[in-house]
Amino acid sequence: MDYSKVLQEIKEEIVTFKNTGKVATYIPELGKVDPSKFGVYLQCTDGSGYGLGDALDRFSIQSISKVLSLSLALKLKGKEVWKRIGVEPSGDPFNSLVQLEYEKGIPRNPFINAGALVVADILISELKNPKEELLQFVRDIAEDQTIDYDENVAASEMMHKFRNASLTHLMKDFGNIHNNVDDVLDFYFHQCSIAMNCKQLTQAFTIFLNYGKYDLSKEAAVLDTMLAKRINALMLTCGFYDESGEFAFSVGLPGKSGVGGGIVALHPKYYSIAVWSPPLNKNGNSELGMKVLELLTSKTEISVF
Ligand code: GLN
Repeated sequence: MDYSKVLQEIKEEIVTFKNTGKVATYIPELGKVDPSKFGVYLQCTDGSGYGLGDALDRFSIQSISKVLSLSLALKLKGKEVWKRIGVEPSGDPFNSLVQLEYEKGIPRNPFINAGALVVADILISELKNPKEELLQFVRDIAEDQTIDYDENVAASEMMHKFRNASLTHLMKDFGNIHNNVDDVLDFYFHQCSIAMNCKQLTQAFTIFLNYGKYDLSKEAAVLDTMLAKRINALMLTCGFYDESGEFAFSVGLPGKSGVGGGIVALHPKYYSIAVWSPPLNKNGNSELGMKVLELLTSKTEISVF
């Protein structure tokens, strides 16, 4: 497959795309981002990679980080994690509180905020230096030691923490948060603030390719086959909140979005791809990013289905 040609075609086609999305401003620091930014990077399992536009500009990965924190938690705790978090799509917005009440503080899945906050709580309990060790894990899988937290974004989110604080307090009341609420929020806002570019993201997400055995030069895979399978399944069913069905329907790949405008998606056999365009649709997913991925799987006629 000539991915370079496909990406060029997509670039030409989206020139006329009418973007009705809006940059997230509920975290004020994110509102400062130039809405016209646009980057794509595609990393193939054969080692070749293709970039377009602002593929090397770093942005706030936000909820894309939930896949990475979950991976680390599963490596450390295995199946134990599923005693405290479900694996079903929620059909509600990413920051919704409603289902927590009748699910008795057990989040529907690890990619809505409630689920990621429980994952954060697990990592705080398991790690000696949680923030440093999560960052080191991300640096290692992305093979780039320059990746860092964006302290301005983390501080901005802490100032407007009310919704996430409510979720954490409610789950604490149900006994599903074991650490101090502010410590959980501080860790979670830091993981969301991680700044990465499209190329670094595709490299990090290679751990989910080829049944977890992407990098044959390494002695051991980062994730074993069953973990890679399960995380891919969760990305497919829950990666886009109440738009996960639509993403599976129109794109047909596991993936994860963030309110910084990034989307990472992957075909387990062929590639990982990251797209960045800050304006979001009403579900909090990059509007142009969704379009680009739909064009990719339509043009190549390759999806997981
Ligand atoms: N940090 C954001 C929040 O908790 C992440 C949300 C997202 O990217 N969907 O609201």
